[in-house]
Amino acid sequence: MKKLKSLLGIGLVLTICLCLFGCGSRTRNADTSKNDGTFNIVSSFYPMHILAMNLTNKIDGVKETSMSEPNIGCIHDHTFSTDDLKKVEGADVYIENGLGLEAFNNKIKKAYPDTAIVEVAKNITGEDLNPHVWTNIDYYISQVKYASKQLQRLNPENKNSYAANEKSYVAKLEQLKTDNGNTIKSVEGKKVLVLDEALPNFCKFLKMNVIEIETDHEEEALSADDLKKAIKTMNDEKVKTIFIAKDSDRSTAEAIAAETGATIYELNTCMVGNKNSTADAYITDMKENFKIIATIN
Ligand SMILES: [Zn+2]
Repeated sequence: MKKLKSLLGIGLVLTICLCLFGCGSRTRNADTSKNDGTFNIVSSFYPMHILAMNLTNKIDGVKETSMSEPNIGCIHDHTFSTDDLKKVEGADVYIENGLGLEAFNNKIKKAYPDTAIVEVAKNITGEDLNPHVWTNIDYYISQVKYASKQLQRLNPENKNSYAANEKSYVAKLEQLKTDNGNTIKSVEGKKVLVLDEALPNFCKFLKMNVIEIETDHEEEALSADDLKKAIKTMNDEKVKTIFIAKDSDRSTAEAIAAETGATIYELNTCMVGNKNSTADAYITDMKENFKIIATIN
């Protein structure tokens, strides 16, 4: 009886071993089929996705996807989920804005230590730098160049393709600046109240004089006291222009406008799109912004 028990025991152990071995090899097979030589790039959120889409344009064997949906808004307000983490699995490179916007990136580092994390804002520095840097076209060009350099280093067999894509995208962005040179100049030094965190860097690019108040993309959450202060500052400094993000809540801006006679302008933050957004999305959004800027008097 004792012998039978131990035989059963051995049988059980063998079964467990076989299962573990079987499961293990299935996992390895799955990995092998996934690892078909494709260089996988995952971008953190929409502006990074558009940037990476341009750099990876028409390169065979390079696949780029976005970790988050194009309509989530700012990644710094986003609650990181296990679904998000799963989407980074198998990535050779994870592209993020950086400067603290993707506060969850430690979880990615921990789960996938072999995935290279490229922080594209790495070369952008400055005192009290607002991390939403992509709305400044000069900063954005720096991000494109830095991302390209890192992709060339991490995926050297496609070095020339990344370099060619970078050159063509940067040329388009420089053209955008040239084409709108007069509009950009027309608002230089103009005072503006900005009610979305993604827009001060756009104003910096325009050399506007920004009256910034703490909003965290949610200007509707402004306290009555802050609202009073904003109105006083606007009137004292004779600020007649308010920028808010397109499709955002207008109530605070309207309350301020009613007390100051200021005009509200809704601008693209270049961080919201949809599944059909194409590589030119950033340029299209910026062109729309310049059309609106041109109406400021
Ligand atoms: Zn944000």
